Amino acid sequence: MNDNKNIRRDAPWREELRRAISAKERTSIPRVKMPQLDPAYRIACNEEVNCGLDDSQAAVEASRCLDCPAPTCTEGCPVGINIPDFIKNLQHGDIAAAIGILKQDSALPAVCGRVCPQERQCESRCIYHKMKKEPVAIGYLERYVADKARAEGIEANTEAKKNGIKVAVAGSGPAALSFAGEMSRRGFDVEVFEALHEIGGVLKYGIPEFRLPNSIVDYELDNLSKSGVKFHTNTIVGKTLTFANLVERGFKGLFVASGAGLPRFMGIPGENLCGILSSNEYLTRINLMGAGRGTNDTPAPEGHSVAVIGGGNTAMDSARTARRMGAEKVMIFYRRSEAEMPARKEEIEHAKEEGIEFITLSNPVEYIGDEHGHVRSVRVQRMKLGEPDESGRRSPVPVEGAIDTFDIDLAIVSVGVSPNPLIPNSIEGLELGRRGTLVVDDNLKTSIDTIYAGGDIVRGGATVILAMGDGRHAACAMAKKLLS
Ligand code: FAD
Ligand code: SF4
Repeated sequence: MNDNKNIRRDAPWREELRRAISAKERTSIPRVKMPQLDPAYRIACNEEVNCGLDDSQAAVEASRCLDCPAPTCTEGCPVGINIPDFIKNLQHGDIAAAIGILKQDSALPAVCGRVCPQERQCESRCIYHKMKKEPVAIGYLERYVADKARAEGIEANTEAKKNGIKVAVAGSGPAALSFAGEMSRRGFDVEVFEALHEIGGVLKYGIPEFRLPNSIVDYELDNLSKSGVKFHTNTIVGKTLTFANLVERGFKGLFVASGAGLPRFMGIPGENLCGILSSNEYLTRINLMGAGRGTNDTPAPEGHSVAVIGGGNTAMDSARTARRMGAEKVMIFYRRSEAEMPARKEEIEHAKEEGIEFITLSNPVEYIGDEHGHVRSVRVQRMKLGEPDESGRRSPVPVEGAIDTFDIDLAIVSVGVSPNPLIPNSIEGLELGRRGTLVVDDNLKTSIDTIYAGGDIVRGGATVILAMGDGRHAACAMAKKLLS
């Protein structure tokens, strides 16, 4: 994290920006709207829905920021980005400084600017809420700075003097990439081992192109390669490459960032019928294996009337992907109400614009198949909200006798994931948590001295920014230990 949070606040240019318009005038500027593709056009293609701000929109939005002396927005950011610092540098026209500030705390700002749930993090803490106004669009501005820096070839990374110490990373999602970048910057020789044939973890196989284009991730991967990080695909740590193999090859530390890619199912009758699959399988087939693109052999699970079960980002991505794959009817079944949905607000809005039906307070209880063993309908229990549970959300309770049946020919189950058990089970002496996560200390060190871990393998399913924060945190701790 950046220890010098207010280092640039006293600069004369910044004082001038603060004085340029009165607070009253500033706070009466309406929040910018993100330009986006028309729903009728976008459901027929895979193009990115949000188009990004242009220069003048970004400048006006940046001018809304009050440059608060004690910025509450920063408190809402899981990695503590100095938000007014990057926004004011953007407004000042210094993109190099703005990207530098972002990169001090976030390895992949172009990714975070697109997929972070800002409405629950930094933007939820913006002082504008106290004035009953819409918060500064911090996420849009983060994306703008990252995209602008990329377009102009501005690089925040610097060449590091090598120290000759080798470290390995298992997995290549945001936790792994952030760790690799930080260790490389500190002079370590970093090698990343990924089980799949593509680098990027959920950023590649899970989050669809229409929300996060692969070119954005590839650009960051390219930068890491240029900084000396070596990537190996098709390598399963704990299986095709054991921890003992890594030690034999001279690696002094291992960072486990193998994520939570094991899908959960509901265990209800009929769930084994053909035409019912997990979101992970569905999205991986399409995003990573090119199903339905004509250029690849991977069969695409086809559905005209599709049920998606769940209310998170994964459910929204699956539903919106099904729509783009040609489904005429896509229904999201969620057992609580829309207010409790964990998905990003923007994703819910975009899904609705794309014609996805939201059938909330509904919980599937059984799938019915035809004589060929293919799913044909789903029986759904109507629910109502009861008392709050331990998460503080009101628990769904069945409404007795209220069962509806919906005709479907494809069901995509998106009710959560668990940590991949392969590494936890293959390295003797690793302490495991209750849900199969890896237990770590405050420095993200596991029960084995040379192994650190972070991201979803430690947290269960979480977010990109938290995974990145872990990668950076673990790198700082491991580097300190290896250099002591
Ligand atoms: P992952 O990204 O899961 O990467 C783990 C990698 O490790 C994978 O590539 C896997 O193949 C590899 N691996 C596993 N086992 C091994 C092994 N034995 N050897 C080598 N490699 C191995 N978060 C947000 O903040 N915003 C969003 O909008 C959002 N949308 C999402 C949409 C979907 C569809 C999904 C599935 C998740 C979404 N998330 C979102 C959650 C977020 O993507 C994850 O929290 C984050 O990717 C976790 O990062 P990670 O590095 O821990 O693991
Ligand atoms: Fe700017 Fe809002 Fe942060 Fe204040 S709280 S510095 S107005 S983004």
